[in-house]
Amino acid sequence: RAKEWDGSRVEIYASHMHDRVVRRLELQTQLRQALAEGDFLLEYQPAVDLNTSKVTAVEALVRWQRDDEVWAPERFLGAAEESGLVVPLGEWVLTEACARVAEWRRLSWDIGLSVNLSVRQILSPRFVDTVSMALADSGLPAAALTMDVDEDVLLENPGEAVARLADLRALGVRLAIDDFGMGHASLAHLRRLQVDTLKIDASFVQDVDVDSTVQLLTQSIVSLGKNLGLRVVAEGIEEQGQLERLRDMGCTQGQGFLVARPMSAEGITALIEGEAAPER
Ligand code: C2E
Ligand code: MG
Ligand code: MG
Repeated sequence: RAKEWDGSRVEIYASHMHDRVVRRLELQTQLRQALAEGDFLLEYQPAVDLNTSKVTAVEALVRWQRDDEVWAPERFLGAAEESGLVVPLGEWVLTEACARVAEWRRLSWDIGLSVNLSVRQILSPRFVDTVSMALADSGLPAAALTMDVDEDVLLENPGEAVARLADLRALGVRLAIDDFGMGHASLAHLRRLQVDTLKIDASFVQDVDVDSTVQLLTQSIVSLGKNLGLRVVAEGIEEQGQLERLRDMGCTQGQGFLVARPMSAEGITALIEGEAAPER
């Protein structure tokens, strides 16, 4: 009896595994097709100077336009990463975003661009060439492009990733550590990469005006960035109190729903046109 019961459990477990694998494969097939058919789109989230409220940069964020739904990256980046499709997807993001921002800059809007990088992309053999081609084709100056790198980059294949990022840096492209915290990986990045920007993790920002420990930790990150001569950007600012606290700490740049949500390219154009309009 006990044997029978055990057997059925194993069977149920195996069939769950099977379903998951099948769903993953289906997703990968759909991703490949979406890439071929151009079903991805970019939203741009402004980053502003916390003292003047002027837009200093936009961050490109990828979305997947499915029949009647728009999927956020967390729903498909894992599968894209696993299948290697994140490499061509990342190339599309880079090319599209560089062209867009170069266009805005030609209208004399002095803004920078942030693009997120995945580990797979950095380790792909054509990575540095792709970036330099996106810059050459669009006419975007290398110094206007910042690439966001996060924790896991140095964990897998650290030597190789660091070398590729140094090549990138040699092009004049800037590097940011995304979701920067007090963890070992964040600090290791500072030692091993020539970093330009720290992006303070939204989890710190969330409690910066209510929790005194978080406040001290955040102040330490801001000071660390300043002492190293880096640009410090706070991410995920949702409330006025958080913005004021961060500004008082000496954090000069911020991003978050309070300031602006990610929006279409047309939305950014309208936003910057409004900003450029003479004050009445
Ligand atoms: P990230 O680079 O840290 O981007 C910030 C995320 O926080 C974005 O989510 C943005 O929409 C969201 N966000 C911004 N302000 C607020 C706020 O005030 N409150 C809250 N709750 N959220 C806020 P999104 O667009 O879903 O992207 C999630 C992550 O996916 C990004 O985190 C980035 O790691 C990754 N990602 C996005 N686009 C790309 C891409 O083109 N390539 C790669 N490799 N990764 C990407
Ligand atoms: Mg980012
Ligand atoms: Mg982030």
